[in-house]
Amino acid sequence: MIIDMHTHLFAAGWVPRSFFHGVARFITHEFAKQGIHQTNEEVGDALLEGSSDPDAAMLLAEMDEAGIDASVIFPVDFGLALGDPDVPIKEVNRLYAELGRRHPGRLIPFAGVDPRRAGAADLFETCVTEWGMRGLKLHPCAGFYPNQKEVYPLLEIAQHNRLPVIIHSGSMMVPLHSKYSQVMHLDDLGVDFPDLPIIAAHAGGMFGYQQMLSLMSIKLNFMADLSAWQVFAQRNYNGFCRALRELLDFTGPERIFFGSDSPSFRSIMSNADWVNLIRDLPQKSPGGIVFKEDEIGLILGGNAQRLLSL
Ligand SMILES: [Zn+2]
Repeated sequence: MIIDMHTHLFAAGWVPRSFFHGVARFITHEFAKQGIHQTNEEVGDALLEGSSDPDAAMLLAEMDEAGIDASVIFPVDFGLALGDPDVPIKEVNRLYAELGRRHPGRLIPFAGVDPRRAGAADLFETCVTEWGMRGLKLHPCAGFYPNQKEVYPLLEIAQHNRLPVIIHSGSMMVPLHSKYSQVMHLDDLGVDFPDLPIIAAHAGGMFGYQQMLSLMSIKLNFMADLSAWQVFAQRNYNGFCRALRELLDFTGPERIFFGSDSPSFRSIMSNADWVNLIRDLPQKSPGGIVFKEDEIGLILGGNAQRLLSL
């Protein structure tokens, strides 16, 4: 079974446009080198339109192509940082829950809400008890630290309901802030919620994974997903293999999850290629770096299957 621990669905009105205008900077930067001049707004709006997938048709087709059996889907709440989009965050969460109901076993919805919002804990409670959502996603780059007091009531709900929490870690592009998602801010959660499964999305990032590794090696409730590591694998395959091997050596294979962050990296590597790259590690990793088939099985799906009782 192959399970993608980290995906999003975007649509106009679900997420602030300025988020896409920020993402667009990477593209306009490359365009400019080729003499093509477009504004971040033009490119960002086109990007949002091109990745619009309110009924998950694109995601499901991508999963079929890559042989992914199930994907965890979650919204990101950037409203307090960037201005609320047209659709309120409660409704966005409800729409995610509905997609989970429409595609049982294939789309696994987690809730996503900024803990500083009035009624955030109540909303998360509703997501879990009324709408059957299966976990929580937090994006501190909207302007809060994961160990800030507003976050704790939500973590208590997750703990009470035995649900995992996934938290963005590593860096973040304009117009959001990277300081909030540095790995060490997670440490308090390891102390205060030692039995709550906490997944560091992106494993601290390709430049922060060693700090994540140092936390994971001694705080046993910390886990990590490999989403965004497509970039690492593509730019420096040997470095990627070495980093993943280090993660496995010091944390064991049971706490590392396959993830794509789809649709974010579709243009860099297809999910089919990303799955194959991981699956082929035992055969293709460079000399001296050894991966075992059973480790790859756990990363690609075994761990998520166990954690989410799929
Ligand atoms: Zn993400």
